[in-house]
Amino acid sequence: METVVIVGAGQAGAAAALSLRDFGFAGAIEVIGQEPDPPYERPELSKGYLAETVPFGALVALAPEKAEALGITLRLFCDVREIDRAGARLRTDSGWTRYDHLILATGGQPRRLPLPEALARKACAIRTRADADQIRARLRQAASVVVIGGGWLGTELALTARSFGAQVDLIETAPRLCARVAPVWLSDRLAEIQTAAGVRLHLGQVPGFEAQGAIRLGPARLQPDLIVEAVGMIAHDGLARAAGLDCDDGILVDSHNLTADPAIFAIGDCAKVAGEARCESWQYANHSARVAAARITARPRPKPEPRWFWSVQGASRVQMLGECPEGAVQIVRQIGRGQSCLFLSGAMLVGCVAIDTPRDIAEARKVMASRRALDLDRIRDLKVPLSQALLDVREAVANYPA
Ligand SMILES: Cc1cc2nc3c(=O)[nH]c(=O)nc-3n(C[C@H](O)[C@H](O)[C@H](O)COP(=O)(O)OP(=O)(O)OC[C@H]3O[C@@H](n4cnc5c(N)ncnc54)[C@H](O)[C@@H]3O)c2cc1C
Repeated sequence: METVVIVGAGQAGAAAALSLRDFGFAGAIEVIGQEPDPPYERPELSKGYLAETVPFGALVALAPEKAEALGITLRLFCDVREIDRAGARLRTDSGWTRYDHLILATGGQPRRLPLPEALARKACAIRTRADADQIRARLRQAASVVVIGGGWLGTELALTARSFGAQVDLIETAPRLCARVAPVWLSDRLAEIQTAAGVRLHLGQVPGFEAQGAIRLGPARLQPDLIVEAVGMIAHDGLARAAGLDCDDGILVDSHNLTADPAIFAIGDCAKVAGEARCESWQYANHSARVAAARITARPRPKPEPRWFWSVQGASRVQMLGECPEGAVQIVRQIGRGQSCLFLSGAMLVGCVAIDTPRDIAEARKVMASRRALDLDRIRDLKVPLSQALLDVREAVANYPA
C-alpha cells in the first residue's frame, strides 16, 4: 500500500490529506505536527479568536473524529527531525517512518526584532493558538500597546488591541500601510479605519530601541506595557535544506508544488514557486494542497485561481482579488457604507479591492473568469451588477479596437 506522509498539521497539511481522499487516494495518509492541537486555520487568531468572539472549535480544519473516519492518521505533538531521502523515510521523536510521497507543509514562524532585553520582555508575536492566548492575557493587563509593522497582521492586531481599550501606537517604516501588497487607494482607506478607531499611526518612521526600555520615534519616546511585533514570517525550510533540497526563503517547487526530488512536495507558507514571490495566504495553503494531491493521484492540475486575500479591519471586511497595479485605470464605486475599487487594463478587469462590498468581489470573480471586456459606462451605475456590464464581442471590438 502506498503511503503519503505530510509534515505539518496546519491548514495546508490538513487540506492535502482531505484532498487526497477527495481525489480517491486509497493508501495510508499520516499527518505529523508539532502543535498539540488538531490542524486549525490561523486567520481568526488575530481577529475573532483573539477578541474572544470566535471559539477555537470554529477554526479546526481536521477534527480527530473526521480524520479517523477518513483513515487519516494524525500524529500530534510530534516533531519531525530529519529526512533521509535516499531511504525514503523520516525521523520523528519516536523513530523512523517510511514514505512513498512526502508533503512538506511546515509553515513558518514570526520574524523577530533584535530588541534589547528591557523591551524584549514586553514583546510578543503571533503564529499559534498558544501565542494568541498569551497575547490576549497580556492585552487584558496593558494600558498602552505598540504594534510594530503596518502590514495585514499589524493593522488587524492594532484594531483588536484597541477593542481591549488600550492606547495603541502603530509603527511602520514604509510611508503607507500594507505597502508591499496593497495599492495606494487601499492603504489610504486602511489608514482612515485605523485613525477612526483611535490608533495613533507613525508611518515612514524607523523606531530606535533603547536599552533602558523605551522606543524612540524622532524626538518622542514611547514606553508601552506591551509590544506586538508583526514584521513578517520566516519560512520553515530547515528540514528541507538539511535534506539537500533547494531553498531560497522557502522550499523551491515547480508549478505542481514538486521539489527537485520527485517524491517530495512542499505546499502552503513554506513553499516558494521558483522565480515567484512566496505566497502566505489561506487561499494558497488550500490551492497548493490540492495541486500536490492532484499530482500524487495522477489527476489534472487544478486550474490556477486569481489571487484572493481577505482581512478583517475592525468592523470592516477587506478583500483583494487579482492584480491591483498602480498603473491600471482605477474606478471607485461607493455602495452604501462600502466601497470598491476596480483595476482595469483597457476594458479588461484585472483586479478588485472591496471594503464591505462582498458582492463586487463575487461579481469581479465572474467577470475575470469570463475574460470579457467591461462596459466602462455601465460599471459606474451602482445598480448594475458587474457581471451584467460586459460588452458583447462586437461592442468590444468597436469600442476597443486592437
Ligand atoms: C495570525 C494570522 C492571521 C492570518 N490572517 C490571514 C487572513 O486574514 N487571510 C489570509 O488569507 N491568510 C491569513 N493568514 C495566513 C494563513 O493563515 C497562512 O497562510 C496559513 O496558515 C498557511 O498554512 P500552512 O499549513 O502552510 O502553515 P501553518 O498553518 O503554519 O502550519 C504549519 C504547521 O507545521 C508544523 N511544523 C513545522 N515544522 C514541523 C516539524 N519539523 N515537524 C512537525 N510539524 C512541524 C507547525 O508547528 C505548524 O503547525 C494569517 C496567519 C496568521 C498567523
